[in-house]
Amino acid sequence: MITIKNDAQVDAMRRAGALLYEVLESVCEEAKPGVTTAYLNEIADQKIRKAGAIPSFFQYEGFPASICTSVDDCVIHGIPSEHEILKEGSLLKLDCGLILDGWQADSARTVGIGKISEADQKLLDVTKASFFAGAAMAIAGNRLGDVGHAVQEVAEGNGFSVVRDYSGHGIGREMHEDPAVYNFGIPNHGLKLRKGMVIAIEPMLCAGDWHVGAQPDGWFVRSLDHSMTAHYEHTVAIMENGKPEILTYPGYQWKE
Ligand code: MG
Ligand code: MG
Repeated sequence: MITIKNDAQVDAMRRAGALLYEVLESVCEEAKPGVTTAYLNEIADQKIRKAGAIPSFFQYEGFPASICTSVDDCVIHGIPSEHEILKEGSLLKLDCGLILDGWQADSARTVGIGKISEADQKLLDVTKASFFAGAAMAIAGNRLGDVGHAVQEVAEGNGFSVVRDYSGHGIGREMHEDPAVYNFGIPNHGLKLRKGMVIAIEPMLCAGDWHVGAQPDGWFVRSLDHSMTAHYEHTVAIMENGKPEILTYPGYQWKE
């Protein structure tokens, strides 16, 4: 079911989004060579709980942590571990979600650990750019295919591939609501967007082929060819006119 949020509800989600932004900022600052992914999870978990919010990933379908830490060929759903020490040159995907006063926020970033290669920097930059291209199309009256197509065009136009088996999603009182928000699509096709819809747009890109697979435990989704991957996600609210508001990026201003 697609839920339409009123202004007060979007405002509540704005507060959840602002808190999640702060949490991810704190985690990103600590993401350096020599640090364990379990330590990053601790930072996020403590910061969320201290603010009176709930880490939404913890125990979600049995997930054992409050953030996903996915390294290199792992694109999503990596489980933090005390045995996983971040190495110079890695790409770390940090995905986090929280619930504040009953409202969800969901956001992910990819950070380079220490110095990364030029090719990996390009993957990271293009993934972020593909998000903004997609989000720029998340306008009342446009369709979901417009969003997906814009993401896909930027990704593939730069020589990367887009993961097909996982998508973004509606978000509200639940982390995963309808509709599915794919990172590929046909312009002017799919669900028409309207004011009050809130969606998580989350491009997942591979440097090689787009096929990915989960490990037998159900987590750690990796590119099958083990090429590098990147992920970038924000929770965005469709407004009455113009560009959407990026709830998990407080103060973000669209350029035009
Ligand atoms: Mg997420
Ligand atoms: Mg999400």
